[in-house]
Amino acid sequence: MGKKYKIVYDKKNCIGGLICVDIAPEFWRMDGAVATINNQKATKDKDKEELIFDEKDLSHNLEAAEGCPVAVIKIIDLETGEQLYPKE
Ligand code: SF4
Repeated sequence: MGKKYKIVYDKKNCIGGLICVDIAPEFWRMDGAVATINNQKATKDKDKEELIFDEKDLSHNLEAAEGCPVAVIKIIDLETGEQLYPKE
């Protein structure tokens, strides 16, 4: 088993604009005017969404997170608890 990571998405502060969807459509799609995680395993409520994913998808998810103009996509290393993006 490889390492696991987590997306923590602060949906209430998304401003739309589609950059995450453009970069990583297998992880993001639009839900009206804002983005939503494009995966049935994601936990979702009105303001916040989370998804655990594998190491093979880390660089792609970091790229989408870094592309978000308001940095509402956090990437967490589940093993160490470190927040990989945005850096704290
Ligand atoms: S890039 Fe950020 S602000 Fe833009 S749709 Fe995705 S999550 Fe929302």
